[in-house]
Amino acid sequence: MIITDVVIVGAGPVGLFQVFELGLLGMKAHLVDSMHQVGGQCVELYPDKPIYDIPALPVCGAKELVDRLLEQIKPFNPTFHLGQEVVKVARREDGRFDVVTSIGTQFDAGAVIIAAGLGAFEPRRLKVEGSDTFDGGALQYRVRNPEDFRGKDIIIAGGGDSAIDWTLQLVDVANSVILVHRSSTFRAAPANVARVMALCDEMRMQFLEGEIVGMDGEDEQLKAVRVRTKAGVVNRIEAEQLLVFWGLHPRLGPIAEWGLGLDRNQITVDTARFQTSEPGIYAVGDINTYPGKKKLILSGFHEAALAAFAIKEYLNPGEKVYLQYTTTSPIMHKRLGVDPDISDLAAA
Ligand code: FAD
Repeated sequence: MIITDVVIVGAGPVGLFQVFELGLLGMKAHLVDSMHQVGGQCVELYPDKPIYDIPALPVCGAKELVDRLLEQIKPFNPTFHLGQEVVKVARREDGRFDVVTSIGTQFDAGAVIIAAGLGAFEPRRLKVEGSDTFDGGALQYRVRNPEDFRGKDIIIAGGGDSAIDWTLQLVDVANSVILVHRSSTFRAAPANVARVMALCDEMRMQFLEGEIVGMDGEDEQLKAVRVRTKAGVVNRIEAEQLLVFWGLHPRLGPIAEWGLGLDRNQITVDTARFQTSEPGIYAVGDINTYPGKKKLILSGFHEAALAAFAIKEYLNPGEKVYLQYTTTSPIMHKRLGVDPDISDLAAA
């Protein structure tokens, strides 16, 4: 059981900045994200795209913004629990919260902040005859260890960066690789697509334009994947392993079951504290809704600041929380680990 001031559900840009605002007020946070990387939509959906509406940064790449946030929160040493979804948030008798993740990590938290954006991202799944039998075994949606595929006959499905990148990596590991995509147009880096096509020309792998329509095997051992070509012919292709990379989609998931006030799958909050219908549980960023809500990173940052003040008061009832400037506050300098002389210079 990990004891902490706050658990933040979601490590998108708003969850990351929430660490900073809590840290300034002397609170420690643990972050949980269902993804294996931090950054939420910025990293998952548009890492290389420029953002133009972050104050004082006329232009900033989405991944760059996340890197800058990570740098900014370093002094507060947050703990990340990645690749696990928060599945349970329940109030205990003592008023604190039990928070449990999909892989069994347990927290005893004073408050919970939901910064879950559009929900937890999960892979788009293959739904064809036989696929349920192989899910998690011969049918996978991500590569944990490329060595698992050494010497195997594999089929990779997809036309984006993940499919192409893994094709390039696994071609040297697997016995055979066949890439299956519904069109000959790819959504991946053109240079990498060109490398895949060159490997096909060298007969080191194959590309098949078509749609997966079935999986055949026995006792969870995959024997073949059925692929319907553009001409409508169904080919039965022998394979031991199928890897599907069709991207990710967000899902509100277990959050819907935590008894919080919702409005069209978003959590309703008040705009003074960003508290949900449950005292001690807050919601910031794209996941929340209130009159005038705009799903912008900028709005999420503002919400995170007010939520931090509200949580400080919630965890320390009766104690007045004063507003202090990072420019001049010695206690904030201490928390930030900055040299007061440097701050003095900046102020001069
Ligand atoms: P998210 O970024 O969605 O992160 C939420 C995280 O929570 C995710 O990583 C998810 O995996 C995790 N999560 C969810 N549920 C759980 C759970 N139960 N357990 C564990 N983890 C969970 N905004 C701007 O301000 N300016 C722009 O220019 C801009 N451009 C954009 C361009 C595109 C193409 C897109 C798609 C969005 C753009 N946005 C822009 C919107 C911006 O990205 C979002 O407002 C922002 O990402 C919201 O941040 P967040 O931290 O609230 O949520």
